[in-house]
Amino acid sequence: MSQETTLILFKPDAVSKALVGQVLARFEGAGLKIRGIKMLQFGDALLREHYAHIASKPFFPDVQNFMQKTPVIALALAGENVVARVRELLGPTDSKKAAKGTIRGDLGVDVMVNVCHASDSLETAAAELKRFFRDGELFQY
Ligand code: ADP
Repeated sequence: MSQETTLILFKPDAVSKALVGQVLARFEGAGLKIRGIKMLQFGDALLREHYAHIASKPFFPDVQNFMQKTPVIALALAGENVVARVRELLGPTDSKKAAKGTIRGDLGVDVMVNVCHASDSLETAAAELKRFFRDGELFQY
């Protein structure tokens, strides 16, 4: 099976609580490969584009505020069946419902403060990788 690539964002809770290293170690420990990584600060336009699917939700202003609290770290991660495997490693969106042993179950706080974003399909991943990485910033090796 071919290698697929997904987009992860380490959210401000992961960055401010210094959880990035241990979460990255879980991804690498699962055999997933880093193809690109960068830190960035969300501006309003990029945030609105990335979260267009929740822009009309009542909790969107809270998400906007939270996601701009600190810079985030974007990670392009590759492996077989990577979209599903990453979402399995993370656990469900709501950290309170996530099993111990999953990243959100061990390190997340609630439905918003949940350590990482991860693409939910290969189609979404392709669009999200383009959103955060330019040509030449993703590596094959
Ligand atoms: P996921 O990020 O797991 O794909 P969604 O696309 O449904 O989940 O939601 C996007 C993000 O919006 C979540 O990661 C979370 O930060 C936030 N969110 C979702 N539901 C809620 C909620 N009920 N209250 C606050 N924030 C929420």
